[in-house]
Amino acid sequence: MSAKVIDCVAIAEEIKKELMSDIEGLKKKGISVGIATVLVGDDFGARMYRGQIEKFCQEMGVEYTNANPSSDASEADVVKVVEELNENDKVSGIIPLRPFPEHISDYAIINTIELNKDIDCFHPYNMGKLTLGEITFAPATPAACIEIMDREKVNFEGAEIVVVGHSNIVGKPISILCLNRNATTSTTHIFTSMAKNLEKHTTGADILIVAAGKANLITPAQVKEGAFVIDVGINRVKVLDENGEPVLNEKGKPKTKTVGDVDFDAVKEKAGKITPVPGGVGAITNMMLMRNTVKAAKVQHGLE
Ligand code: NAP
Repeated sequence: MSAKVIDCVAIAEEIKKELMSDIEGLKKKGISVGIATVLVGDDFGARMYRGQIEKFCQEMGVEYTNANPSSDASEADVVKVVEELNENDKVSGIIPLRPFPEHISDYAIINTIELNKDIDCFHPYNMGKLTLGEITFAPATPAACIEIMDREKVNFEGAEIVVVGHSNIVGKPISILCLNRNATTSTTHIFTSMAKNLEKHTTGADILIVAAGKANLITPAQVKEGAFVIDVGINRVKVLDENGEPVLNEKGKPKTKTVGDVDFDAVKEKAGKITPVPGGVGAITNMMLMRNTVKAAKVQHGLE
């Protein structure tokens, strides 16, 4: 039987509406909700992400501040930019857009962000609180995974949850959030794969959350019958024809498409529930960031 495909776009739309009414309510009280991004230089991926954030801000009535020091700005200069954003009443939340140039330490910037403006939970203090189960802001992507599971009424207690990927911003906090809800969590990573143990773990998962950034890493052989599969990965791959040759676009360049880490078409026939890519976790992630921003505005005005 084919899996239930979770309509993450519809969930995101629902959350967006709720947040927009919240934002309107705050505006009536004279409280503005705002996001500032800090991009140093012009990294392509970071610029793309910034564009997305700016678009959501416009659509949702959130003030947007674009801090964009040049790539040769010193670390001290960028720290000063963040300090100014900390003091700016129009900025409820600050998002550092990485990668930074090599001469700038991630920690120098992240550790400067005011704790109540750290809406993607980068600061070690907020990450420490998250680990202890005292969440101020859950990082957006892990929060999106939890939102999906909550809406599907997952019973975390005793559930076997396997996370593939252990990055500080995605895999690790997802595992911690699930562990704090008393799931039995296993966190797997590249060394699990290298030791040829990935399948041993993933086939035991009631819920399999994949955040590795490797297209088609998860095939049906790695999934338990009826499992809930949440695909966080976002990968650009070439479109291939039936002979495995790249399909070219009108400019003669290979066509590309976005896929997750899971072989969706094949795994959907074995899983019980599955999230698609595109139109999956990413859509909800954006709204989690917005939810954290609204929360930050409330916290800063003593409303939470
Ligand atoms: P990352 O920092 O590159 O981390 C990837 C993780 O996967 C690492 O822990 C890595 O292990 C592990 N890994 C890599 N290859 C593996 C393999 N063959 N088997 C098992 N584990 C493997 O990436 P990230 O920032 O966590 O993001 C992960 C993916 O999610 C990317 O595709 C990214 O684009 C996507 N993403 C999506 C959203 C969303 O909202 N949907 C948000 C953020 C990121 P090692 O560190 O040991 O190499």
